[in-house]
This record gives sequence, structure tokens and C-alpha cells, in this order.
Amino acid sequence: MIDIKQIKGVGPKLLSNLSKLGINTTLDLINFYPFRYEILEKSKALNHDDKVIIDGVIENYATVVFLRNRKDRMKFVLHTNNKLINVCIFNRGYLKNRLIPNTNVIIIGKYDEKHNLIVASDIRFGVLPDKPIIEPIYHTVNGITSKKIRDLINKVITTDFELIDYIPSEFSTKYNFLDKKKSLVELHNPSNLSTLKKSLNRFKYEEFFLFMVKMKYLQNDSKNTLGLKKNFDFNLVKEFINSLKFKLTLDQVNAVKDIYNDFISPSQMNRLLQGDVGSGKSIVSFISLYMNYLSGYQGCLMAPTEILAKQHYNELTNLFPDINVCIVTSSLKQKERKEILSKIKNKEYDIIVGTHALFSNDVEYNNLGLVITDEQHRFGVKQRSTLKNKGITPDILYMSATPIPRTYALTIYGDMDVSNIKVLPSGRKEIITTVMEENNIKEVLQNIYRELKLNHQVYVIAPLIEESENSNLKDIELITNNMEKAFGSKYKIGSLHGKMKQDKKDEIMESFKDKKIDILVSTTVIEVGVNVPNATMMVIFDAELFGLSALHQLRGRVGRGEYQSYCILVSKNKTKRLEILEKTNDGFKISEEDFKLRGSGDLFGVRQSGEMSFKIADIKKDFSILVKARDDSTYFLNSSLKNNYPNVLNMVIKEHLD
Ligand code: ADP
Ligand code: MG
Repeated sequence: MIDIKQIKGVGPKLLSNLSKLGINTTLDLINFYPFRYEILEKSKALNHDDKVIIDGVIENYATVVFLRNRKDRMKFVLHTNNKLINVCIFNRGYLKNRLIPNTNVIIIGKYDEKHNLIVASDIRFGVLPDKPIIEPIYHTVNGITSKKIRDLINKVITTDFELIDYIPSEFSTKYNFLDKKKSLVELHNPSNLSTLKKSLNRFKYEEFFLFMVKMKYLQNDSKNTLGLKKNFDFNLVKEFINSLKFKLTLDQVNAVKDIYNDFISPSQMNRLLQGDVGSGKSIVSFISLYMNYLSGYQGCLMAPTEILAKQHYNELTNLFPDINVCIVTSSLKQKERKEILSKIKNKEYDIIVGTHALFSNDVEYNNLGLVITDEQHRFGVKQRSTLKNKGITPDILYMSATPIPRTYALTIYGDMDVSNIKVLPSGRKEIITTVMEENNIKEVLQNIYRELKLNHQVYVIAPLIEESENSNLKDIELITNNMEKAFGSKYKIGSLHGKMKQDKKDEIMESFKDKKIDILVSTTVIEVGVNVPNATMMVIFDAELFGLSALHQLRGRVGRGEYQSYCILVSKNKTKRLEILEKTNDGFKISEEDFKLRGSGDLFGVRQSGEMSFKIADIKKDFSILVKARDDSTYFLNSSLKNNYPNVLNMVIKEHLD
């Protein structure tokens, strides 16, 4: 295949733009799939307000009016089907000289019957063919258009080159797939809908097939990886468990047992601990750290936010006054950090808590025996193999508060063993959830007041819209001001958001814990894990903007103590979707509903963004293909097929080591 730099018309500037799209090689380029297709079919009739596509010839010279901000508006008359229609289009003034009478053009736009006018969104030269045109649309960045990308791809795929086909021909035949190169050409230059669909399915299948082979391969690999065989006195663990303020639930006990068995086995643990918010995963992780410590190893616990890392750190130092625990976050001063790191290296610390800063290159562990992490910071396959290459094979425990439906879990977390905590600690009252309409703010305030009078605390959440951090700040300010107006004379109101300095955030969180703040207005930075049992009400504004699982996570911040707790979802209007949360507190059910309603995007957001990012397949929409690929991959690995297609395993192993 030719070098990307040798494609005609590719210069440094284009290269750098392509690189922004993740395209650095010619192979990247042809594997840059369209994210959707536009189907252009000649409109049979022109109806008012319809999106229309028509072709015709230009009747008169186009006129252009220049507007402010370098914008322009062009007008001309189109002759189509023995009829004249006015066309108006913005910012295409540069085409004026080509739009001369008798030119054939295709117009895409909206028809306004009253003015016999099409306000066009696009204009092309040529005549519409009788059958629909299927146009691939690519993601773009500034400086490069979808059309440009398509042109470049076409320059390559019309040349002669070889592609490695990872689908064993036994399976290709079974599904009647087209040859890989033909399918690729079809993706970028569709000839008709049915061939396109067939080609898409071929690529989706290939992606899933490799993924499933990889999952299964890794699972076998970690079963076969010699890990640490830990050795310690379980009586000490029992003693510790008996000294806790509460009795572990059966699910917690079973999770501890699972982990214990993994620890004492010589193979490396690779376990997922799934459980709803508040189900008590943290204590299981603490007990695991303790068992690991008793066997003489260092252990680390990675939290998604600094607030949570701090909280874990405090709890660990309380629970284990005799163990040396430290905390590593990105807000440490250079000098402090250096000192802590050198102590970690000398094993003066046995338990290390932190954020993702725990895995920066300069952190050197000493006899690391356990890594605990959460779904937000997946300690993925790559990190695992990096450590393995350094000769370190700690046991690994992932915690996830987004329980996912079983069928999906089996497939997606195929490389891990799973422990579930399904039952909440006893004595917990179910959180009572109510959806209230935005214009009912008075009722919302009355509810807040009721809790405040009981001396309880309240969280108020404004949604975090990432693209517009500023408008979000305004929301926070506005809500804080309104809370001040309503309750400021008697109660303390604090606010917290992602843009704040870490010290400030910690200070506010501490005050909330110490009940120096009664109402905490916050963005979703508090989403994960924060534990303030005296907080009994969670008010979430603009609730309709969140996914159900996210709302469920947020409401899990309350209902952590013995008091009845409440969640109020404030929304523009009461939707069926939000009502699901009124009806159930079961995270597994909720994630299933979310899954049905919103697709896999949110649910698997994290895992997808890492090692599970599929370029073309979608776990939910293409689940039936995934199931086929899963079954085929099992057959593949268990039969002699794997020897006939060494490329497949090579690919998997290569990806695994990259
Ligand atoms: P998760 O991490 O799963 O969201 P946590 O571990 O933070 O949940 O637990 C929530 C609260 O429940 C904590 O205050 C914890 O001390 C308490 N807790 C955990 N296990 C039990 C139990 N078996 N009985 C009573 N309370 C418990
Ligand atoms: Mg082990």
C-alpha cells in the first residue's frame, strides 16, 4: 500500500488535519469508516416544509448579496420538470461564477410553497440518477471536509493492495460475506443498500470476532499467568470483620470469599466486583487490602476523584491505625510527592490510595500484590501487560457501580471473573423518589425545608454539560443564589464544581461532612462514592438531561444512614423514562431500562473508550452479530482452526502487547 504522504494532494497541512482524526497511515485512512450515510433520492413531489432533493437547470445568472460577518446569500431560479422554482442558499457566493444558465445542478433543501422557494442547504453539480445515491458521511475536523476524506480514500482503494482478512473462510462462507476488499470499497462507495448492509455486517462481525477471541484468549492467559500465591492467617481477617460496626451482608461475605480464593491460588486474580451504589463495595475492597497486607504485599486503591480518594484514605487510616497508608494525588506539591514516592519505593507504605496519578511513570511500587480500581479508571489490559512485562503480576480487582444485564456482562466482561453484590445492607430504607415539574419549584423548596428542619442535609445537583463549563457555572451560581434567598437566613449553603481548586473542593466537602454546610449545591463532581450519612435529600435539576443510571448513581449519595431519604428529580415535564426511577431502586433493572432506551453508548462509555472501542459495530444494535462472533470465537479457540489462521492470534497478541 502506498505511503500516506505519497497520495496525490497530501501535504503537511492535510497530514496534520488527518492526524487529528487519528489517521496517520494509509491503512488508518481506508479504515476510517463513514459514521453515517446520506441517501439522496429524487423527491417525487414538492410539499410545503418538506426536505426535498431535486435537479434541474439554472435559468438565470445567480445574484449574491453580502451580509455581515463575511456571510452571503445567493439567489437564482431553477428550471425543473417544466416548472420554475426560486432557490436561495447561504454562504455559497464563491460558486456564483459556475452557476450560469443551463448548468445542471442538484438542490437539497426545504420547500416553501407560499414563496415557491427552496432554502437550500446544499447544492451540487450534475443530474440525479434514477436510483438513490448513497453518500458516506465522515467525521471531520476544521480544515478538512467529508468530501475531501472520501476523495482521498477513493484514491487509495482504487489501487492494487492487499488486506489481511481475519475472518476464517469457514465463517465467511457460513455467513456468505463478500470478500474483504470488495466490502471495503462498498463501505466507502456504496452501490446499493443491500450490498452496503452486507458489507457493514462483514466488518462488524470481524471487529466482534477479534474482540471475542481476544477476551477469551486473555481469560485463558490470565488463568495461566503465574500470579502471587498469598499466604496469611484468615483468623485475623475474621477478627477484623467481627470488629466492624456492622455485619457484612451475605453477598459481601461471598465476595470476600471469592477474593480470598483468588489470593491463595497461584494464578493472577482478574475480578470484577459489581454492585449498586451504596451496596458496600468499599468495605470489601478494604478487607482485600487488609488480606493483601497480611500476606506481606503492598496494595493500591485507585479512586475516580480526589474527594473520593481522600475519603477512602481517611477510612483506611481509621480502620487500620497500625498500617502505613498514604495518598497520592495530582495536587501534591513536588517536594511532598517526591518524599512519598521514595517511601513507597522503600515499602514504608503498605497501602497507597490515589487517583490516576497512581499510575504515572514515576511511581515505583515495592512488592505490589493488589491493584483495586473502578470503572472510571479502568486498569486495562494494557496496564496489566505493562506490569507483567516488568515481572509484576498483582491481583486485580475492578469495582463497578453500573451493573449491566447478565447477557451483556458475560460477553463484554468475558475476560474477568465476576462477584455481584445484589442485596443492600439491611436496615436501609428505600430512597423515595419523586419527579417534580420545573414550575413546581415551591413544592421542591418545601420538601427541602422539611429535611432541613429535621437537621438533615441536602444535595442539590445542577447538570454538568461538558462543552459549556461556563454556562454550567452560571447554573450553579443561580441555584446557589436561589437557595440563599430561600434558606440563607437560617441555613448554610455551599457550592462545589469541577473548576475549583482541589484544596477548595476538599474544604467544602469536609465542611459538608462536618455539617458546617446544610445545602450543598454541586455539579456531578460528587457523583462517585461520597459518603455523608446525614444527607437525606438529593435534588437534581434538569433531570431529563441525565441517563437513568447516572441519576441512580447520584441518588445513591443519600440513603446511606438510618434515616428515610428522598430524591427529587426536577424536570421540564414528567416523562415515562424518569418515572422508572420512582418505581424502582434496583440498579440492575435501571441499567437494563437505560440500555433499552439509550443504547449502549452511556452504559459502556468507559469500557468502550478504552480497549473496547468498536469502530463500526455497536454492542446493542449489533448484538445478534456479537453473539455469533462470540460462539464462533469459542469454536475457533477450541478447535484446530486457530492453527490454520495464525494471523488472528497474532493480531490479538499484538494488540494485547501494544
Ligand atoms: P459502594 O461503595 O458500594 O457505593 P459503600 O461501600 O460506600 O458503597 O457503602 C455505603 C455505606 O454503607 C457506607 O457508609 C458503609 O459503611 C455502609 N455499609 C457497608 N456495608 C454495610 C453492611 N453490611 N451493613 C451496614 N452498613 C454497611
Ligand atoms: Mg493469586
